[in-house]
Amino acid sequence: MSSTHFDVIVIGAGPAGYPCAIRAGQNKLSVACIDEWRNKDGSYAFGGTCLNAGCIPSKALLESSELYYRTKHEFATHGIKVADVALDLAAMQKRRAQIVKQSTLGIAALFKAAGVTGLQGHGKLLSGNRVEYTDKDGRKQELTAKHVVLATGSAPMELKSVPFDGKDIIDSWGALELESVPKRLGVIGAGVIGLELGSVWRRLGAEVVILEALDTFLPAADGAVAREALKHFKKLGLDIRLGAKVSSAEKTKSGIVLHYSDASGAQQVEVDKVVVAIGRRPYTQDLFGEGTGVELDERGFVKVDEECRTTAPNVWAIGDVVRGPMLAHKGKEEGVMVADLIAGKVAEVNYKTIPSVIYTAPEIAWVGQTEEEVKRSGRPYKVGTFPFMANGRARAMEAAVGFCKIVSASDDDEILGVHIIGPMAGELIAEAVLAMEYSASTEDLQRTIHAHPTLSEALHEAALHADKIAIDFPNR
Ligand code: FAD
Ligand code: AMP
Repeated sequence: MSSTHFDVIVIGAGPAGYPCAIRAGQNKLSVACIDEWRNKDGSYAFGGTCLNAGCIPSKALLESSELYYRTKHEFATHGIKVADVALDLAAMQKRRAQIVKQSTLGIAALFKAAGVTGLQGHGKLLSGNRVEYTDKDGRKQELTAKHVVLATGSAPMELKSVPFDGKDIIDSWGALELESVPKRLGVIGAGVIGLELGSVWRRLGAEVVILEALDTFLPAADGAVAREALKHFKKLGLDIRLGAKVSSAEKTKSGIVLHYSDASGAQQVEVDKVVVAIGRRPYTQDLFGEGTGVELDERGFVKVDEECRTTAPNVWAIGDVVRGPMLAHKGKEEGVMVADLIAGKVAEVNYKTIPSVIYTAPEIAWVGQTEEEVKRSGRPYKVGTFPFMANGRARAMEAAVGFCKIVSASDDDEILGVHIIGPMAGELIAEAVLAMEYSASTEDLQRTIHAHPTLSEALHEAALHADKIAIDFPNR
């Protein structure tokens, strides 16, 4: 390291921290980004949870397992006969690991191109914008910066009564790196991570039971979407038990017995492995020295304002370690905003248009308010829907399940929320995000030309249906 003073020091190189460092570099600021992520073999890697143990490896396995499942169960419908379809899990896992490696090495290259000093080791904020950097050999060095950005992310929450043992009771990272398909897999928590991981191992042959404490399935999603999703997950063979609060785990000779209670009383189920996916907590371990002035809220998140300023001067915080949805793209936009604000530019994050995606089959995606939220707000609204069953491209793909739904204000036609369950929902939602970002009306969407035959026509037709002028499936 040629200098120990920087304009900006970012602690954490996940999807919040690394874009922040790169944009600071693009803004001609001198910047260092410190990251301590270590893989299970002890090697350091940039990219945080998302690249190493979250978004990317989960999507790699979701893709592979979906292909395996479709080859076995759906190719015959296309007139493709395949004999002896066999799973090579070692090869599947090798591909997952290679994609992760390629992605994390890419960040080192991006840092170089943007003039970012990438440092691997631990960062600790001291008072007066000093940062103690401990390198991989344990050597400590004091760095200073005009601005410090905390981007230390989150860690899996542990269920005290079902503690991780790293072998049979594992977290989401462990569930991504299994070397054999468990015969019986128990998943605690039917949130996004539990559903994605449960889907992977179900498609690869495991019997999967998902225990969820809440009575409502996917409470953050639009009600109609959640009901449709539950139907399809059950069809896949996921045994989702709602209102099932897990209280303990007992290791027996034949497996692990999960004890839970539901409306009928005490219950139990025996499995071979357990994935605890009950949520994530902000990660701030050994991050603060004495007197930094950075305050945490009651749940341990770093307190910030709308522009990600903490309670200490020139200290900012972004990503999973602050309030808001724990999503990579939310952290990225906060990182870019902070780097621009530090450079004196105008920047903001529109928290109302952050899309949510669940990468299951069918895929689920939404932006804005659910119909239930709009109803509670009291604003008069209209709803348009369109089933993929009536969409030519979806039928040609043999993927005609689910629907698009648009919820709009009946007074000024504003689009309030878009909800999609069906093929490529995560890609289709981008159009709705753009429309809402630019305050497009439902009529604007109706007047936008959509190529035929594409899945995106379903969103177009849903917008038309909101005013009862749908062309393809009008009589509803
Ligand atoms: P992180 O990615 O957690 O990165 C923080 C980094 O800071 C880590 O590398 C950590 O080691 C480092 N660090 C912490 N403390 C220090 C310190 N003191 N000194 C130095 N370094 C430190 N989100 C999506 O948007 N889409 C998805 O599809 C998706 N899938 C997911 C699947 C799974 C299985 C999981 C677990 C998560 C998924 N997420 C997904 C969530 C996403 O991974 C997080 O929202 C995102 O990684 C948060 O980014 P971050 O930069 O705030 O934190
Ligand atoms: P998310 O917060 O989206 O990652 O989802 C985690 C899910 O785990 C939530 O829906 C919680 O209700 C659920 N959960 C938390 N604790 C338990 C428990 N003891 N038993 C079953 N489900 C739980």
